[in-house]
This record gives sequence, structure tokens and C-alpha cells, in this order.
Amino acid sequence: MRGRAPAAAAERALAMDDKLSPMAVTSAATRRAFSSHSRVWADNRYVYPVVSRRSGGLSIGINLNPDKICNFDCIYCSVDRHVNGPTGRVETAVLRAELRQMLALATSNEIFRLPEFAAIRPELMRLNDIAFSGDGEPTTCPVFGRCCRIAAEELKRAGLSGVKLVLITNATMFARRPVRKALEYLDQHGGEIWAKLDAGTAAYYQLVNRPGVGFDRICANITWCAQVRPTVIQTLLMRIHGQPPPPDEIQAYARRLADIKAAGGRIKLVQLYTVARNTAENYVDPLAPEEMKAMSERVKALLPGVPLECFW
Ligand code: SF4
Repeated sequence: MRGRAPAAAAERALAMDDKLSPMAVTSAATRRAFSSHSRVWADNRYVYPVVSRRSGGLSIGINLNPDKICNFDCIYCSVDRHVNGPTGRVETAVLRAELRQMLALATSNEIFRLPEFAAIRPELMRLNDIAFSGDGEPTTCPVFGRCCRIAAEELKRAGLSGVKLVLITNATMFARRPVRKALEYLDQHGGEIWAKLDAGTAAYYQLVNRPGVGFDRICANITWCAQVRPTVIQTLLMRIHGQPPPPDEIQAYARRLADIKAAGGRIKLVQLYTVARNTAENYVDPLAPEEMKAMSERVKALLPGVPLECFW
């Protein structure tokens, strides 16, 4: 069992998301932990722990795409697609068992006694959420709705109904009926949608996300989502071939968000972050903290009243 095999678990990478500004990372060990990210944890197929920068605590990740197939091909993606993942349907009974065990580890604080977590600051030793975020787009999973139910049921069983359910998504599938039903279910069970929007123009979107879905469709999907429930927008800013996003692109991006608001969409939060891990393309690099601050100031100025957080 992974919780009782810390040495073996340490050999596999502990999942640490790119979610914390440097202010919250005090030790070299913690910085090292945050810089690695894998969705493989111990012997689990689907469930992995993440100390999440953006949530400021432990996030239990659910990877519904162990096959590593995604309908985007982002140039900054950290998923190693040189090695194939296991194919086949998600086995919901296995997922439930893994989640139950992980919740037990988290609620007993046993997880924070593992060597990988030993350097985490005490205030981060709290369970913040369960997040659907994997090696592909979670909503493409045919049993996504069923998995949402399992997550809510297991939280309830553990007496953790106040813990959030988060969907981290590229918003490509929102027009599908089963996906809309699953989002409705999440709405009724403390769900939050974090939708990816990395561009303001179709050309930049093509450059960054290399998608199978048109930019207008993505914008329409995010607008619909924000009209139905307050939605978090996640945006990764980076250097491409040494160049930061051009000012026109940032302007266009802000305009897209303003359009969503003008259409009655509610933007709960905009999260700007930069590259923190390996990238699919070697011409992608992180922006420097001062560049991130400057970008965030520019976006703030263009979008008054929209809450914004910036991570680097
Ligand atoms: S949407 Fe996510 S998993 Fe898919 S290619 Fe982009 S970063 Fe990778």
C-alpha cells in the first residue's frame, strides 16, 4: 500500500502542481517538490496527491486520461507522451477504492508524514479539494459523470462535504449533453470549473494549444459556462522562441474576457501562471516574475473589477 511504502513512493514522483507563488515556498525541499509533477503516485492508476499552489493546500487529483490522449496538444504540456499510458476504460471501482484510501490518508494526516511531504509548510497541510485534472481532457472520458458522482459520494462518506470538487478543463466538450449534465451535478455538489483560456486570438490559440477545436467554439463554450455558474479562467503565459506574449495578444485576451462578461458571464477569478515543469516543446520557457507581474498589471487594468491571481 502506498501510504505504508514511502520509500517506493518517493521513487515515483510526488505530484506537485504549479500553483504557489514563491512567497509560499520556504525551503529548498519544498521548492524541489513543487517543481516536479507526475500523475503517477505509488501504484495508483487514477488518484494522486498534489500540493497545490493555487489552492494553497493538498489537492487530490483524479486522472481520467491515463492513456495520455488529449484533444489539445499544448506546446507547454508536461505530459510525457513518448511513453504510452495504459489504454482501456476507466475502472470506476478502482478509482473509488483509490480515492477512498487517499481521503483516509489525508484526513488522518498520515500523508503529511511521508518524506515527500515532510518539508511542506504547516499551513499547506490541509485538504483543499478534489480536482479532475489528468494527462488529457477529463470531460472526454466516457464515464466522467459517473466519476463526478463517485467523488461527491466519497467526500460525503468521509464527512468532507465542504471540500470542493474542481474540474480543470480545456472547455472543448461543454456543448455535449452528458458533459453539461455532469457540470450541473458538480454545481449541486460544491463544484468549481477552471477553464483554460491561453489566448486572445485564433492564431495564438493555434500556436499554443494546437487544438482540434476552433477558437470560436472555445470562446462560446466558456461564455456559456460562465453564464451558468461563476467560472475560474486559467491562463498560462510563456515565452515562445524567446518572445513573451505580444501586447496586442494580451489586449485581445482581455477583450475576450470582457466579451464573456458583457454576455452575462460571471468570471469568478482569473489565474495567470507560467511554465513550471518540463514542456512538450523546447522553445517554451517561463516568464520571469517581473514579467508576470507586469502582465498581470496589464490584464488588471484592462479588466477592472475582475479578481485576478498571478502565480510564477
Ligand atoms: S489540455 Fe492539458 S493535458 Fe491536454 S495538451 Fe494541453 S496541457 Fe496537456
